[in-house]
Amino acid sequence: MITAVREVSVFGDAIAYFNEAAELLDLEPGIRRLLVRPSRQIIFAIPFQRDNGELEVFTGYRVQYNFARGPAKGGIRFHPGVTLDEVTALAFWMTWKCAVVDLPFGGGKGGVTCDPTTLSIGELERITRRYAAELVEVVGPDKDVPAPDVGTTPQIMAWFMDTYSMHVRQHVPGVVTGKPLEIGGSRGRVEATGRGASLVALAQMRRMGIDPKGAQIVVQGFGNVGSVAAKMFVDAGSIVVAVSDVTGAYYNEAGLDIPGAVAYAQEHHSLDGYRGGEKITNEALLALPCDVLVPAALEKQLTVANAANVQAKLIVEGANGPTTPEADHIFNQRGIIVIPDIVANAGGVTVSYFEWAQDRAGYFWKESEVNERLADVMLENFAKVSELATLRSIPLRTAAYMVAIDRVVQSMKTRGVYA
Ligand code: NAD
Repeated sequence: MITAVREVSVFGDAIAYFNEAAELLDLEPGIRRLLVRPSRQIIFAIPFQRDNGELEVFTGYRVQYNFARGPAKGGIRFHPGVTLDEVTALAFWMTWKCAVVDLPFGGGKGGVTCDPTTLSIGELERITRRYAAELVEVVGPDKDVPAPDVGTTPQIMAWFMDTYSMHVRQHVPGVVTGKPLEIGGSRGRVEATGRGASLVALAQMRRMGIDPKGAQIVVQGFGNVGSVAAKMFVDAGSIVVAVSDVTGAYYNEAGLDIPGAVAYAQEHHSLDGYRGGEKITNEALLALPCDVLVPAALEKQLTVANAANVQAKLIVEGANGPTTPEADHIFNQRGIIVIPDIVANAGGVTVSYFEWAQDRAGYFWKESEVNERLADVMLENFAKVSELATLRSIPLRTAAYMVAIDRVVQSMKTRGVYA
């Protein structure tokens, strides 16, 4: 029965990872019951007018999973695959992600089931404004602070902030993060997730005796996270041999020209037609010999069906939930190290925290200051996770959940559960 649910549920997978760490922490049953339940799930209709005048209705979601350490925090996803289950799992992960890098936030996530690639700018703006308007009472700098995720952009955050500010009749830049710079965004936010992922990857590579210079890297997903991570690896002297996006994978044994591929993807809105590498399938990409594999697309990419084929020594989860628990088990058995999503991609929410702090102070930092503080947060907390993993002889993922859950539980206990 449980297996059947897990096969279809992203949240089920997420809970499986949580349970493993909860066992080791010997959590009290009551606290455990509370932590596997979202605080609040909101589903609503989003009517919007098509450019041709037709009235269309999409479904919007916001899940506020946990508030123990502060306001809920998490992105908004615009994607045809968005469901309540997926948004709940993402909000659950945000809870542990914020805690594992010690940010004063709880966990949240939102989404709209739509395909933004088929919508005009005007349609996107109308959907975003209606989405924001529906959430006016429950979001805010001290309640819940959204941010971009798959399919959403700094411009979308700008419309969200403007709609919220219009409704509450004051300028509230801190209601969302990931905004454009000119309206209270933070320097370094766009690159933060890919930068953070490459920082922890490079630290782990050194620990494993893999010289970043000349190391072979494969990146699945060439959006915000994947393309920036690829660029950071190149800056560190590594060779990115393959990248992919929804149109397919591109492979060059001698190394791809990453700035060229980024420019191509920006100009053509995807890598479709890119000639800098041989076109291969996404499955073939995941099985390439390499030092580091960075899944940076969507969840459930590394599964029981392909985990045995993976040849990387290190997997760095740029995406949220790219590895199923079954695949994770295979990687552990095969000695493949996995830096889990809640640590590997925490750079984005860390700089979102910096943005929120800057908005509230009305004082903005230099990019070098942002990057320096990002490195401090990522490396200090990754070191804590690594130490625990070594001490207890457990995978990095279990250690990361243990650090995060322990922090959330400490906050809950100190505040007291209002029950
Ligand atoms: P994005 O929309 O910018 O990019 C997603 C990329 O994945 C695109 O290149 C897309 O073509 C590709 N893709 C989609 N389906 C694919 C498939 N089946 N095979 C190969 N490639 C595929 O999104 P993003 O912001 O880069 O986010 C990527 C992942 O990172 C998501 O899981 C997201 O939740 C996670 N994440 C993002 C941030 C952030 O700050 N952007 C922060 C933390 C986590």
